[in-house]
Amino acid sequence: MRINCLACGHKVDLDDAYDDYEGPVKCFACRAILEIRTEQGSIKAVKQVNIVQHPSAEEVFERVLNPMKEAAQGAGAGGPRRIG
Ligand SMILES: [Zn+2]
Repeated sequence: MRINCLACGHKVDLDDAYDDYEGPVKCFACRAILEIRTEQGSIKAVKQVNIVQHPSAEEVFERVLNPMKEAAQGAGAGGPRRIG
């Protein structure tokens, strides 16, 4: 089974262990985390959890100052986060 990475379009190979699976998988091409849900070998849902990029100094600084804010954004309340 393959899923298309939402971040880079790479086809991520998943073995049979993922035929009934819900949780994160990592794209080894770009290291994005994709949250997937599969049933009986077919993809039911794919969403991107984060984009791994080199953060700007400003972003790192903000993360250090506001760790709770980062966590709140990670909960997905504001929809997809635009970076860059
Ligand atoms: Zn990728």
